[in-house]
Amino acid sequence: MNSIAQNISQIQKSIPRDVTLICVSKFHSVEAIQKAYDSGERNFGESRVQELQVKQPQLPCDIQWHFIGHLQTNKIKYIAPYVSLIHSVDSFKLLKAINKEGKKNNRKIACLLQVHIAKEESKFGFSEEELTNILSSDEMKELHHIEIKGLMGMATFTDNQQQVASEFTQLAQLYSTIKKRFFSQQPSFKELSMGMSNDYLLAIEKGSTMIRIGTTIFGKR
Ligand SMILES: *Cc1c(COP(=O)(O)O)cnc(C)c1O
Repeated sequence: MNSIAQNISQIQKSIPRDVTLICVSKFHSVEAIQKAYDSGERNFGESRVQELQVKQPQLPCDIQWHFIGHLQTNKIKYIAPYVSLIHSVDSFKLLKAINKEGKKNNRKIACLLQVHIAKEESKFGFSEEELTNILSSDEMKELHHIEIKGLMGMATFTDNQQQVASEFTQLAQLYSTIKKRFFSQQPSFKELSMGMSNDYLLAIEKGSTMIRIGTTIFGKR
């Protein structure tokens, strides 16, 4: 079995330099995270607030923590002071609540809007129509303590590569449309977070700028 450092090195060799690798460390120990850190990684992803809360103080403070799981509004306050990017904003209510916590912490919290691209009902995220509606709303203009940096999506969990490819293509097209229509004056809207252990090369081919990889780095959860 390869070490964490070897796994990371293999992934880094297979991806372009301008794609950001997020090491998804959920359910893995601080020791495992430290190993990935020691091999040079600084971007880590967690999907549960409680778990992140326990790990964050035990690890180096230059780690950029990415929150990638479904986030409840009453838990934002715990991660608001330090979270680097929330990938999983899936409702307007949540976005407004994040803005509130950003204000309390006197910072702008970077967010991605999660889009529902998979066939599975269980996955979270906005439809194209919902996205357009909230981005054109007046309320949106009042949110000064969030910064929307792009979109995130998860493909259907399937072996059908064609289906996954078509979902990534669809998300990439939506990303360009949204960027042109709402963020043409904001160069910081530049992230498309898509691709996991099973499909990251395909995701990059379709335009991903951030891949979220757990199993291939840390092993099974
Ligand atoms: C767990 C998780 C990942 C990582 O999945 P792997 O298949 O282990 O690489 C990526 N994105 C999200 C949103 C996740 O919850």
